[in-house]
Amino acid sequence: MSEVNLSKRALSIEPSLTLQISAKANQLAADGVDICNLSAGEPDFNAPKEVIEATSKAIFDGFTKYGPAAGNIDLRKAIANKFQIKNNLNVEFENVMITNGAKQAIYNLFQVLLNDGDEVIIPTPYWLSYPQMVRLAGGKPIFTNSSAEDGFKINIKDLKSKISLKTKFIIINSPNNPTGRVMSKEELLQIAEIARENPNIYILSDEIYELILKKDFNHYSLSTLANDLKERIFIINGFAKGWAMTGWRIGYLVGSKDVIKASSALQSQSTSNVCSFVQKGALEALKIKNEFFSIINNHYDQRRNLLYEGLKNINGIYIQEPNGAFYAFPRLPNASITSVDFCNKALQDFGLVLVPGQAFGADDCVRISCATSNEKIKDGLNRLKKTISKYY
Ligand code: PMP
Repeated sequence: MSEVNLSKRALSIEPSLTLQISAKANQLAADGVDICNLSAGEPDFNAPKEVIEATSKAIFDGFTKYGPAAGNIDLRKAIANKFQIKNNLNVEFENVMITNGAKQAIYNLFQVLLNDGDEVIIPTPYWLSYPQMVRLAGGKPIFTNSSAEDGFKINIKDLKSKISLKTKFIIINSPNNPTGRVMSKEELLQIAEIARENPNIYILSDEIYELILKKDFNHYSLSTLANDLKERIFIINGFAKGWAMTGWRIGYLVGSKDVIKASSALQSQSTSNVCSFVQKGALEALKIKNEFFSIINNHYDQRRNLLYEGLKNINGIYIQEPNGAFYAFPRLPNASITSVDFCNKALQDFGLVLVPGQAFGADDCVRISCATSNEKIKDGLNRLKKTISKYY
């Protein structure tokens, strides 16, 4: 049979580095190798019991049919209400749409707002799907670099220098994947000022880790701080991280009504509604009390700290303290070995699974997850120490 002629679009998609590493790790584990996996991008606990009960009740009640493409009105209203109460932001249900994970919210947004050649400024290190999704919508990712010594704080001067007449979006993501950085109010206000100076630029604010914060750290939604820019800020959020509902595939997009309308039309011709009974579970998730998140955050604080202290004590590693999400993003001793080679060697020689920084646009770093037990974190730190001693 002749070879398939894939579309240019399909050919432009880079295969996921993370999937390659985990395939290899699974193979080694199947061969009986002792593996320590610190690559998880998801919480290690189950979704809250109330959410599971509400979802299964919805199935038994027959809430299993097609629904509106933009999501159930009750859930859209509950999310709008969350913004009114928690973020002090005047959001109506027409400003909200329910998507198949936060991922689809970003995908839809770029599809409905980007034209060929439009530029999207992405601060590095970035969540790995942003550049791919920009390209899939015909856009061009433009990167603005930051330094590990600055804790990967966005370099405002560099960002400004990347703005051109073609700039359509700036992406911000706080708390950040992969660095765990939480942006301060002042930094967010600087971004708002840039948006004011450039009235044609939209901001995508990815707030999916909103609830995973170190004690005494706050999350500020950019729209709350810059109400005048509300029509140009698009908020991405979802249930995956805070409520441990990654596989449930439910997220949402908040933004101007006309964009939500266009995005719903796109969704109506592609995936249609998000699973109807999962939306009932999400409705219940929004009722979960703050105590639940305090307990979860206590666990993460303790694990994040264990990881951070351990990394500080490994010779040659540079690490700034992460204050949110469940990752640390240390810089390796020097650039004599790429992050991909380093992670391959860590896996091959010591059974340690990490994510190479190259996937996030920072080839001198590795991403380490603490969404796992203390024992695994300690074990992983030991294996990391051995890999560093062997290769540097
Ligand atoms: N944004 C960021 C920063 C993420 O880390 C992730 C998930 N890894 C997503 C968006 C996508 O989330 P979801 O699983 O809801 O699609």
